[in-house]
Amino acid sequence: MALVVQKYGGTSMGTVERIKNVAKRVIKTYEEGNQMIVVVSAMSGETNKLVALANEMCEIPGEREYDVMVSTGEQVAISLLAMGLQSMGYKAKSYCGFQIPIITDSSFSKARIESIDDKKIREDLKNGVIVVVAGFQGIDREGNITTLGRGGSDTSAVAVAAALKADVCEIYTDVDGVYTTDPRIVADASKMEKVSYDEMLEMASLGSKVLQIRSVEFAKKYGVVIHVRSSFNDNPGTLVMKEDADMETVLVSGISFSKDEAKVSVQRVPDKPGIAAQLFMPLSAANISVDMIIQNVSHEGYTDLTFTVPKADFKKALKIVQESAAQIAAAGVVTDENIAKVSIVGVGMRSHSGIASKMFQTLSQEGINIQMISTSEIKVSCVIDAKYTELAVRVLHEAFGLARKGA
Ligand code: ADP
Ligand code: ASP
Ligand code: MG
Repeated sequence: MALVVQKYGGTSMGTVERIKNVAKRVIKTYEEGNQMIVVVSAMSGETNKLVALANEMCEIPGEREYDVMVSTGEQVAISLLAMGLQSMGYKAKSYCGFQIPIITDSSFSKARIESIDDKKIREDLKNGVIVVVAGFQGIDREGNITTLGRGGSDTSAVAVAAALKADVCEIYTDVDGVYTTDPRIVADASKMEKVSYDEMLEMASLGSKVLQIRSVEFAKKYGVVIHVRSSFNDNPGTLVMKEDADMETVLVSGISFSKDEAKVSVQRVPDKPGIAAQLFMPLSAANISVDMIIQNVSHEGYTDLTFTVPKADFKKALKIVQESAAQIAAAGVVTDENIAKVSIVGVGMRSHSGIASKMFQTLSQEGINIQMISTSEIKVSCVIDAKYTELAVRVLHEAFGLARKGA
């Protein structure tokens, strides 16, 4: 008997009919003699509706109340699925994060899971109960409801799989695996049979939302192999796992893109020690992560500092940066929300040169201007005007030979 964790995303849970389909899939695996924990997301569109409602109430909603609200979509989904399973003749029990409990830190809207109590779940499993767990949510040590960031149900699933030492962790979504790029943008993208944790971490952090980045961090840390598959067919999906020898032979494995960042430039910053710290410390104190940073060469004792922040934190960030800019007597703050980050990712890049220049050349052939560049051992990212995103992704996908064979 194996312990199987299955996670179903919003589209898979989108209607009562689809939830019945999920119930049937869960029952099939259960009937094969497995113990089952099912982690689910809110029905598609529900979390967006809740976020919109909060934003309608006020410009910057209170963080604690925001989490109380946006976590409710998953509560509806778990109860519906448990009801469905029961009506099909199976023992099932739903749990919100706080009931298990899934303990997190107190970073509202981007909380990190600290521990998961396995007592109730183990007891249920022993009694043949199918356990249905709300993704995306937890509770902090003061008893506040927290959420894990958009797409956070993936992380709930992997964390539950790690905590209970599950034999299988399957993430069911609306595509049948991880592709070389978003298959909704490039029709001939190819499905990867397997992808290393490090590549998937880069892809997820660079915008490939098929898995939330923290779910991959958890999987890597605890050695959980994630199987990404479709809830609409039985095709084998993609295994996210430890790197193996064949993975290095591919130079570029995937193209990611994100329109979720905004650019902030602080102009004419005095070029002296401590200034960068003065600008970035208040942002980190507000739990805002800064991504790409460029500091120009100093000119007559002044420099420009440009960086990107998540669009979701943009208003908050701008207020903070404007205050800091005034304190350090910078000339002003200029912003641009119409940017996109396009990235190429591959563990094979470590041992090959010329990949970045090929990327720059490919973009320039289309007349796409590169505004910022950042690199790591296994990725190159360029910030460009958002209106060229799809074009950039397509030409890079082609230039690096990623199209499906025979497409
Ligand atoms: P769920 O609601 O099941 O969690 P998501 O919408 O979060 O589903 O993630 C699945 C979506 O991720 C797909 O519909 C696809 O458009 C998108 N996606 C982005 N990049 C990729 C990629 N490289 N491979 C597969 N899907 C991708
Ligand atoms: N419902 C949440 C969201 O839309 C969590 C998830 O789907 O994973 O972000
Ligand atoms: Mg998701």
